[in-house]
Amino acid sequence: MLIDAHVHLDKYGDLLDRALQEIDENRIFTVATAMDVPSYLELQKIGDRSDLVLPTFGIHPRRAAEYADRLRDIGHYIEMSPAIGEIGLDFHWVKDTSTYPAQRKVLEYFIAAAAEQNKFVNLHTKAGEKDILDLLEKYDAKRAIIHWYSGPMDILRGMIDYGCYFTIGVEVLYSDYIKEIAKAVPDHLLLTETDNPGALRWLKKNDQIGMPTAIKDVVNALAEVRQLTPERVERLAHENFTRLLLDDPWISKSGIDALR
Ligand SMILES: [Zn+2]
Repeated sequence: MLIDAHVHLDKYGDLLDRALQEIDENRIFTVATAMDVPSYLELQKIGDRSDLVLPTFGIHPRRAAEYADRLRDIGHYIEMSPAIGEIGLDFHWVKDTSTYPAQRKVLEYFIAAAAEQNKFVNLHTKAGEKDILDLLEKYDAKRAIIHWYSGPMDILRGMIDYGCYFTIGVEVLYSDYIKEIAKAVPDHLLLTETDNPGALRWLKKNDQIGMPTAIKDVVNALAEVRQLTPERVERLAHENFTRLLLDDPWISKSGIDALR
């Protein structure tokens, strides 16, 4: 079974039906990450349409400033959600430095809650890699997926030692640095993602909509980089994701059934 552990399904618009059809026909287990509250509410409706879609609540660093002063309002969405994401820090693409304290505040709130509720987190780490590793350690938050890592190699190694999982995505098709990262992640921490529908459009600056089967291109590219067969890469991501969910009280029934 293919694993796409980071997707923005609520952004497909008119193509949503086709995306869900691809997910079901190709058996792609899909972690549907939210950007904010409206995005999570939308994803819950989408999640009702497929057993293979797991909607998760998070506030993206780009949205953090809007939520930093009303964290109590989002507590019950965190409790309701089986896992957490997308959350994180972005000190690279987000140029407005006045939002950085809000980003830190929102992220810390989520990581503390996720650790307490034993939920896995799906993290955006752009130029905040070291701070994020420090926060995971501070709260002893062990169940973490680092999404689209592109930071320094020494922090990557620190995160590997800590036991973070890594979703490698479509940039592995184009970037030598991402290929290096994709090689450095050990077998037992490797996961796959598309970050679609926008990832390809963002990378290639065109209007290409990334569909769910792009995960196959990621698997094939990873196989080439790691000198494995695509079947082996697919199996590794499946085994790793199943292990990540195994002791999960929220997902153990429906999620693991869908993952078979
Ligand atoms: Zn994302």
